[in-house]
Amino acid sequence: MCEIRDSSTVKVGDGVVTVKGWVQDIRNLGGISFIALRDRYGVIQLTLPKKKIDPELFGSITKLSRESVISVTGEVKESNQTELGVEIIPSAFVLESEAAVPLPLGVIDKVSAELDTRLNNRFMDVRKPEVKAIFELKSMMVELIEEAVRSNGFTQVYTPKIGAAGAEGGAELFKVKYFEKDAYLAQSPQLYKQILMSTGLDRVFEIGPAFRAEHSNTNRHVTEFISFDGEMSWIENEEQVMAMIEEIIDHVLKGLKEKGAKQLALLGKEITVPARPYPILTYSECLKIVNDGGLDLKEGDDLGTEGEKIVGDHMAAKGCDLYFIAEYPEEAKPFYIMEKDGTPYSFSFDLDYRGQEISSGGQREHRYDKLVARMEKKGLDPKDFGFYLDAFKYGMPPHGGWGIGIERLLVKMLDLSNIREAILFPRDPARLAP
Ligand code: ATP
Ligand code: MG
Repeated sequence: MCEIRDSSTVKVGDGVVTVKGWVQDIRNLGGISFIALRDRYGVIQLTLPKKKIDPELFGSITKLSRESVISVTGEVKESNQTELGVEIIPSAFVLESEAAVPLPLGVIDKVSAELDTRLNNRFMDVRKPEVKAIFELKSMMVELIEEAVRSNGFTQVYTPKIGAAGAEGGAELFKVKYFEKDAYLAQSPQLYKQILMSTGLDRVFEIGPAFRAEHSNTNRHVTEFISFDGEMSWIENEEQVMAMIEEIIDHVLKGLKEKGAKQLALLGKEITVPARPYPILTYSECLKIVNDGGLDLKEGDDLGTEGEKIVGDHMAAKGCDLYFIAEYPEEAKPFYIMEKDGTPYSFSFDLDYRGQEISSGGQREHRYDKLVARMEKKGLDPKDFGFYLDAFKYGMPPHGGWGIGIERLLVKMLDLSNIREAILFPRDPARLAP
């Protein structure tokens, strides 16, 4: 029995080892053949000098189809021809699984496939190191987010993804059959994380799926995404929520730059860590920037994709990647946001990253009567929200929070062109499989 190793740990002087992986490429040069064997960590070379290898072994291993999975035992030799500085001279191998021919998608081919073809064959696509790197970075990102919130005293919670009503009501809900009743998939944990503020769990976070029945086919919308939500009590204003997000994002950017250096190099990307504090623009300032930039928006209008881009360009010219847009008109924001009394504005904000919204948040309305009044103003029936409103009747601290789409954050960090690239198995109006 010899030691089972991965490609990254094989070194000269190891003697005989076993390595396992995918046959990425075979080059038969007559007297000698080379196999590039790929595992999670990299590619190791198997070298087969015809004269020195058992003919039967030579014959069968050099005929393998690309991407077949094998387990190979052989002696480690020094090599100045390979990246790892080693090669393995096989003495035995086991074919674990033979790959069919032709492959639905190349792993090492230089021609880049359409995103749709890649997503249809995601199991092949992720074999590419630069694609795998995106998901390794996503995992690190979540770890860093958790580090940042936990060190700030947040408790991780899980709220239901099936319920009787959505966070904001409206048309973006997926209806599902729930025995004899209708139920809806959660579009956000909004109502539940607010209910939790009345329990004394005064800082909570959740990282989980959110579902939106959005028909739009854009490069930044999917019907299922991972939302990183936080809610915190005892705040005095929404700026405290912004400061918390800023601290978290800063920790993530710095951490990924360091921990993800190898993956970032593979992708040919660099992460820039913006100076703090991030600038805070008001909605009204943005409206002026947008209209000076050629649009014709009126007070109360949504900035929209175009508007967000114009503000993004304006901020890029000042060297700012990340910035808050605060004090949106109350009309443009959901019922649970606190109004700025005596003005048409609200204590809400978005965080934008190079011209795209990645987060929305704000101070919530914690006063029962005002909350009910806001619901009615938005055309919602408070009776539909009894389970939520009850939590506001018996002692609710002032609170605020945010929701960040983690794929939007990743897309902007890595400068990817489509949110689907940051999701292993994306869901959109046209895609339910794989
Ligand atoms: P947008 O206006 O960009 O569609 P939104 O304002 O409707 O976003 P929110 O309800 O504020 O979105 O959700 C909070 C965050 O969740 C957003 O800032 C974004 O990062 C993310 N998000 C929302 N909808 C989607 C979606 N369909 N796909 C991916 N991420 C989303
Ligand atoms: Mg929003």
